[in-house]
Amino acid sequence: MAIRKILTGSHPALRSKSSAVKKINQAVLKLLEDMAETMYEYKGVGLAAPQIGINRRLIVLDPGEERLMKLINPRLVEMEGTEAGPEGCLSLPGLYGEVPRAASVVVEALDPAGKPLRIEAEGFLARILQHEIDHLEGTLFIDRAVRLFDPEEEPPGEKPI
Ligand code: ZN
Repeated sequence: MAIRKILTGSHPALRSKSSAVKKINQAVLKLLEDMAETMYEYKGVGLAAPQIGINRRLIVLDPGEERLMKLINPRLVEMEGTEAGPEGCLSLPGLYGEVPRAASVVVEALDPAGKPLRIEAEGFLARILQHEIDHLEGTLFIDRAVRLFDPEEEPPGEKPI
């Protein structure tokens, strides 16, 4: 396992659309391991492959409680309601914004063994999933934020995604 460098700001990899993973091989599994280790090292709750410069549809997340999820080719299949809340990103250090998101979502993905998963989520987990799937499309939270927090403002308690 290895800790990767997280790309920040306007790096082109953060603004590119990622392509689907066609075959789950050793390289993909190793990459997911590295992503998880990197996410924990930077004290985030989610990380998408483009954030370490790889435009593939892979995300890892851990909403807390040591509940690590590694998702391959995740996609939003249902979205319901709207909820605005504070959000930050490991690729935009120090920046937070108020971002409206669907209040509840259903995500389908493959797990590292290639097994189909269906995840029903609400609240912060739903937010993390939407944020990470946005990364796969080259979208950052600042594109959706209704306002950005003043850097002098007390940062919200949420960890960056
Ligand atoms: Zn992010």
